[in-house]
Amino acid sequence: MSEARLREQIVRHGKSLFERGYGCGASGNISVRLDDGLLVTPTNTCLGRLDPARLAKLAPDGTPISGDPPSKEGFLHLAMYQARADAKAIVHLHATYSVALSCLADMDPADVLPPLTAYYVMRVGRLPLVPYFRPGDKSLAEAVRGFAREHHAVLLANHGPVVAGKGLDAAVYAAEELEETAKLHLLLKGRDVRLLSAGQVAELHEHFPS
Ligand code: ZN
Repeated sequence: MSEARLREQIVRHGKSLFERGYGCGASGNISVRLDDGLLVTPTNTCLGRLDPARLAKLAPDGTPISGDPPSKEGFLHLAMYQARADAKAIVHLHATYSVALSCLADMDPADVLPPLTAYYVMRVGRLPLVPYFRPGDKSLAEAVRGFAREHHAVLLANHGPVVAGKGLDAAVYAAEELEETAKLHLLLKGRDVRLLSAGQVAELHEHFPS
């Protein structure tokens, strides 16, 4: 896909995510990998009002090349791309239910969400919790890089998800599935829940490898 079309695709997804309440204010950021670097949404910019010509373009090492200054969370995207050669796009959101999930004390940090539905298992799989770091702490990049080798989606503690995909559509759909599953999990908390069995999860991984 040409860079011009990728720019349009970022703007279209940003607007759609914002209008459906997946971001508020200037929170959340989107990136795509190019042959010669990456495009990242600019800092302090609402996802609902992106301008394709002003997206930040970075060199593969993160050096800004053109456009507005990149999101201050661009380093999270770089860390994920460095760990995953197959990642072509990344979505990071501060969506309500995913953030609520990231604040729960009683969960397994190795696998935050249970296998509630087949679509969650297929699009997200196992979701690890990355420990909390203050905004701007570059140690977070190291932590994300460590988890990203095994996972295309991670949840930052008391913050939100970072989700990679083999294209922007795939990354957005996985981030949406994560948000909806976090919502289901919170709705079902305290109820007797029938989860997919280990056999059913293994069958999905066999038929739909991520
Ligand atoms: Zn963030």
